[in-house]
Amino acid sequence: MLEAAPRMAPGEQKAPSTGNPEVWHRSVASSLSGSRPTQALESSSERAPCPPRPAPRPAPPLPSSLAKWTADVPPPPRQAGPGGEKMALSRGLRCCQRVFGWVPVAIITLVVLWSYYAYVFELCLVTVTSSIEKVAYLTIFHVIFLFFIWTYWKSIFTLPQQPDKKFHMSYADKERYENEERPEGQRQILAEMARKLPVYTRAGNGAIRFCDRCQLIKPDRCHHCSVCAMCVLKMDHHCPWVNNCIGFSNYKFFLLFLAYSLLYCLYIAATVFKYFIKYWTEELTNGRAKFHILFLLFVAIMFFVSLLFLFGYHCWLVSQNRSTLEAFSAPVFPTGPDKNGFNLGIKKNLQQVFGEKKRLWFLPVISSQGDGHFFPTRTLSEARNPLLASEEQWEEDGLDDDNLGKDGKCIWNLLFWGESLCCNSKVLWHVND
Ligand SMILES: [Zn+2]
Ligand SMILES: [Zn+2]
Repeated sequence: MLEAAPRMAPGEQKAPSTGNPEVWHRSVASSLSGSRPTQALESSSERAPCPPRPAPRPAPPLPSSLAKWTADVPPPPRQAGPGGEKMALSRGLRCCQRVFGWVPVAIITLVVLWSYYAYVFELCLVTVTSSIEKVAYLTIFHVIFLFFIWTYWKSIFTLPQQPDKKFHMSYADKERYENEERPEGQRQILAEMARKLPVYTRAGNGAIRFCDRCQLIKPDRCHHCSVCAMCVLKMDHHCPWVNNCIGFSNYKFFLLFLAYSLLYCLYIAATVFKYFIKYWTEELTNGRAKFHILFLLFVAIMFFVSLLFLFGYHCWLVSQNRSTLEAFSAPVFPTGPDKNGFNLGIKKNLQQVFGEKKRLWFLPVISSQGDGHFFPTRTLSEARNPLLASEEQWEEDGLDDDNLGKDGKCIWNLLFWGESLCCNSKVLWHVND
């Protein structure tokens, strides 16, 4: 109603000029109260007979937007416009994506639960006859199982860390940035903002890396994940098997999860093998246990082989101080792209991920160095000064940081099967930068 009043004024303002302000006022009042102007006129003539007046001007047709307020009949149900439908569709898709995101986790959980049952019940309690062997098998199994579950849990439920508030655009900067139409001007604004921040890496064209979705200057090694819809500090990749982004906050947990998964599979395969042979030579005849033990060995070996590749690859990445994304597209420094830009030597690289206290290395507790916003570089003294970068260098460079990970097929082809075990459902190309 309040919105309708100013809209009707221009059409109705002509009424006073006819010499009948009352009609105009009544017309406005009746429109506002929801009754039709003609009805208002009729009722006024009934209540107070008065000298003949000039015939009232017919009320001008109301704008369609106003008509719905004045009509006696209830307005028709609102039809969602194309924009509304799009929004609802994208919301629906996001919802489905969120639900289906848990499917791989559910599959892994079911496999793990089955392996626990098969090992503890079918192997140790039903098949193994020696009590000492039983106790030894079960004790070691449960220690490894505990660490395996603990690291898996931490990989799934440790939230990816977003950049600090100081990397976000202030309102004033945002306004300046949006009002500036020239790309050079926008780059200049970002460069001014970045002067106060410990940001040394650049986009492929030499500009400060900026996320227009999160409206922030990306810290070094930070990338935007379109699945998580946010910028993630030291993003490595989005892993469907943990339904989480692997980045600064949980990279150590992810590595430990791979390590304990390998150990879990290796331990199962090693202890089951003896009984697998026994069933094969028909020394043991329990049919149900035979089925579980056979599959236990098969599944353990299958996962062991695939995880070995993935773990080996990540060990190499840690030794080089590279994230998976950086292995495919080198980070760009003011001096140019450099794959080894963050490589400080194996010892320091390891300490960056696992921390300085070696006793914490194998526990899924936070011990990584730094806060994920700043990483020492090999050539920090040069990289520290953004003015060292010349514009020409960036123009010639030709690399575009925005293309990082978009060419999913290219990355996909380079991934070997072990990596694909973890990343096989469009992982890397969810990275927008
Ligand atoms: Zn972002
Ligand atoms: Zn993600």
